[in-house]
Amino acid sequence: MAITVKLFASFREAAGKDQVCIAAAENVAALLDGLTKICGKTLAEQLYDPSGKLRDTVHVLVNGRGINLLKGLGTRLKEGDVVAIFPPVSGGRRLTPDELKRYDRQIHIHGFGEEGQRKMKNAHVLVAGLGGLGSPASTYLVMAGIGHLTILDQQRVELSNLNRQMLHWHLDVGRSKAGSAIEKLYAMNPLVKIYSRLEQITRENVGKLIKGADVVIDGMDNYPTRFLLNEACVRGRVPFVHGAVEGLVGQLATILPGKGPCLRCIIPKEPPHKPVFPVLGATPGVIGCLQAMEAIKLITGVGKPLVGQMLFFNGGDVTFDTIEVKRDSKCPVCKGV
Ligand SMILES: [Zn+2]
Repeated sequence: MAITVKLFASFREAAGKDQVCIAAAENVAALLDGLTKICGKTLAEQLYDPSGKLRDTVHVLVNGRGINLLKGLGTRLKEGDVVAIFPPVSGGRRLTPDELKRYDRQIHIHGFGEEGQRKMKNAHVLVAGLGGLGSPASTYLVMAGIGHLTILDQQRVELSNLNRQMLHWHLDVGRSKAGSAIEKLYAMNPLVKIYSRLEQITRENVGKLIKGADVVIDGMDNYPTRFLLNEACVRGRVPFVHGAVEGLVGQLATILPGKGPCLRCIIPKEPPHKPVFPVLGATPGVIGCLQAMEAIKLITGVGKPLVGQMLFFNGGDVTFDTIEVKRDSKCPVCKGV
């Protein structure tokens, strides 16, 4: 198995292809070098300045993790890794004065900086489900300046959603959740790009739905669909942030394909289906915020994502517990990934 390089935007045009397989490369520097040999002069000119120095407008994600190219050119690669390479969007690498002002408080977080904000601007997150989890997750991603957000939900707003699904308000009952959400999210931050999809996730379309996403957020309320997303993310090597809630308790785990257990390793058997279950709105509020935080950490490289661990939150006695979770070598989903 070789290293897969996915090219986006103008790099894709320059190379004349969207994906290249490189037999072997020791590190990111060697990979970029090999890539220009395969893809030719036009791509080389976009990646390197005339002195042969890598341009600081080049963004690289290795298995969904942003690489700081000032320090990370030596990041080691192995067979099966997926490397995404993309240029900045919306007119260049510089953040606009409006963006610098809007995101000032988070830019000052140690390790985040303008570089972290640019990574946010270039990233694409898919929030699957716009209910109790997807509402706060997409809200905090939009407020933090996620460049591209796809929101996916085929349902309509019901009165019984309103105790927890904070993007949908009283007058939205009967509207599509995607339409209701996109309106609120754009009102919060018009600088981001939001795409809404009114589709049901199926085994047939899930691979296509997650395509192009740097992170997928699990905003589902049922395990069959969660497992479909988990499987597609493992196959596509896309980080997947799992969240689930019931009553006053919730759980969280970040699935980094190839790096830790997948959702099937942690939950091998589908829990019994409950069409209706109780939820206090604040519970998905907590877990949905943490899902947004995990996505932001994966994109910017700040902090350490919850990989190989599962968090259990109990609002009843206000406890947060994490346990170690391990890969199952026989897992039907992630075995061999
Ligand atoms: Zn697994």
